[in-house]
Amino acid sequence: MSKRTVVIGELNVDLIVSGLTSLPALGRELTCTGFSRALGSSSAIFARALAGLGAEVDFVGKVGDDDNGRFMVAQLQELGIGTDGVISDPAVQTGITISLTYPDEKAQVTYPGSIADFRLSDVDLSLLDHYAHLHMASMYLQTGLQPAFPQLLRRAREQGLTTSLDPGWDPNERWDDVLFEALPAVNILFVNEHEAKAIGKKESVSRALSDLVQHVPLVVAKLGPAGATLADQDGQLDSAAFPVEVVDTTGAGDSFDAGFVYQHIVAGRPKAESLRFANACGAIAATRMGGASSVPSVEQVMAFLEQHR
Ligand code: ADP
Repeated sequence: MSKRTVVIGELNVDLIVSGLTSLPALGRELTCTGFSRALGSSSAIFARALAGLGAEVDFVGKVGDDDNGRFMVAQLQELGIGTDGVISDPAVQTGITISLTYPDEKAQVTYPGSIADFRLSDVDLSLLDHYAHLHMASMYLQTGLQPAFPQLLRRAREQGLTTSLDPGWDPNERWDDVLFEALPAVNILFVNEHEAKAIGKKESVSRALSDLVQHVPLVVAKLGPAGATLADQDGQLDSAAFPVEVVDTTGAGDSFDAGFVYQHIVAGRPKAESLRFANACGAIAATRMGGASSVPSVEQVMAFLEQHR
C-alpha cells in the first residue's frame, strides 16, 4: 500500500511584523523595521515539515482566488505537496493572521476567511482511497469543517487509513462533544501541555494522559522546553527536550507532529525512537524564524540526533 499522507485542513498566510518599539495605540501610527509574508496555518506547516522529511504528502483545503491563496499553493508545491484537492473560491478571501512580534511575546489578529469557510462539501471523499494516513488539525479554528471531523476520521479508518489529530486550543474552552465523538477514529492524538490538562480535565499532564488513553490508543503530549511524553495502554514514556538556542517556537508543535508521523507511521519505527525524533524536529524548528520557511530533511534530523547523543 502507498505510504502517501493526506492532510485535510486550513490554509492562511502569516503577515509577520517585527522591530516594533511599543504596542500599537488607538489614534496613533507605529512604524516597524521588519515585515514578511509566510506560510501560516498548523495544517500547512505540518504538511511542509512532513514533505521536507521526504514523505509523500497531498493537501486538501480551500483558499480565496487571491494573491495570498496563490502564495499558499505555491509554498505547498515548492516541496512537492500535491494540491489538486485545494479549491480556489472566488467568493472568499484567503485567511490571514497578522502577527505583531516582540522579543518575548506576540500579539495576533486573525481574519478567518477561507479557514472558517472550508466545509465537508469542498472535500471529495473518494480521494481517501489513495492514502495510507490522514492528518487533521486546528479543529476549533475550522468552524465550517468542525462538525465533519468525526465523519472524516471515521471514513478514513473504514478505508484502512491510520489517522492523527492535533485539535489545537479551543478559544471557547468548551472542549465539546465533537472531539470525543472523533477520538474513537483517531490513532494518534497530539496535544500540548495546556490542551492535555483541559481535555483530560486534570491538574497534571500525567493524570490527564491516563484518562485520555481510555479514548484513543496513543496520546503524544508536547511539553515545550520540557520535551514530550507519550501515553498508551503500556504506560507513559518521557523524552527530554534538546538544549537549543530558541529563536521562535512558531510551528515547533506542527514540526514535532510531522516528525512523529514520519518516523512512526511512514518509516514504521518504534514509539520511543519516534518520540525522540519528533523532539529533535520540534527543537530544530524552535531554532529557526517562522513556521515552516526552512524545514529539515531526514538526514539533517539524523545528524542533529547524532550530535546530541
Ligand atoms: P505547541 O507549539 O504545540 O504548543 P510546544 O511549545 O510544546 O508545542 O513545542 C513543541 C515541541 O517543540 C516540544 O515538544 C519540543 O520538542 C520542541 N520545543 C519547543 N520549545 C522548546 C525549547 N525551548 N527547547 C527545546 N525544544 C523545544
